[in-house]
Amino acid sequence: MMKLIAGNWKMNLTPSQTSEYIKAFLPLVEGIEDREVLLCPPFTSLCVAQEALKGSRVKLGAQNCHYEERGAFTGEVSLDMLKELGVSYVIVGHSERRWLFGEPDELINKKITACLHKGIRPILCVGEKLEEREAGLTFKVIETQIRLALSGIEEYTDKIDIAYEPVWAIGSGNPASPEDAQLVHAFIKELLSQINPRHEGKTRVLYGGSVNTSNAGSFMAMRDIDGLLVGGASLNPETFSQIVKCF
Ligand code: PEP
Repeated sequence: MMKLIAGNWKMNLTPSQTSEYIKAFLPLVEGIEDREVLLCPPFTSLCVAQEALKGSRVKLGAQNCHYEERGAFTGEVSLDMLKELGVSYVIVGHSERRWLFGEPDELINKKITACLHKGIRPILCVGEKLEEREAGLTFKVIETQIRLALSGIEEYTDKIDIAYEPVWAIGSGNPASPEDAQLVHAFIKELLSQINPRHEGKTRVLYGGSVNTSNAGSFMAMRDIDGLLVGGASLNPETFSQIVKCF
């Protein structure tokens, strides 16, 4: 599997800012073929982004989805709607969804299941809170989140990617050390082979949490870090292109 560098814009950039961004970004990453590059703008920018990305290798992802195909779910967006806009990845279970919007593990499991049915590759986000880390619970928390997210769909481990994003590292300017992240990534890969005896190792485990141009390369140098999920530092096309090229 190619390494994956993904930008999560969160609730930033309007449609016109999105087309400006992509116009600036594409020339900066032109010719890069040995890694996957993914942009995850807000829903309102997907249409403009699809148009602007035509003919490029940069992929389009969404930051969330609903698991039902359609219906009375005010404010929600289905996977069919996203697919028609060229979306091939969806971020599921981001810590902001879990902790600001109260998404429980069962909901995350339904979303992952729906993505698999629709042929969209979910990026499942997991990560411990600071008090959990301090209590020595990091591995337990990660294991529980992954087992619950994959409950009933254990045989599809190769069809998802996972982002390890310690909650205390997100948007804090305080990243995990590459060595600490490596330990968790290795643990996640071992866990996937336990969950699915036929696991082939196609799941990329991305690191996320205060990645920037100066630390990106040291994460990518770690054996089990297969990519990055970048929030704040993906909002500037120049900065994000440097992160894409960090290894
Ligand atoms: C994220 O939102 O997934 C993230 C990692 O944010 P930041 O890079 O800003 O810490």
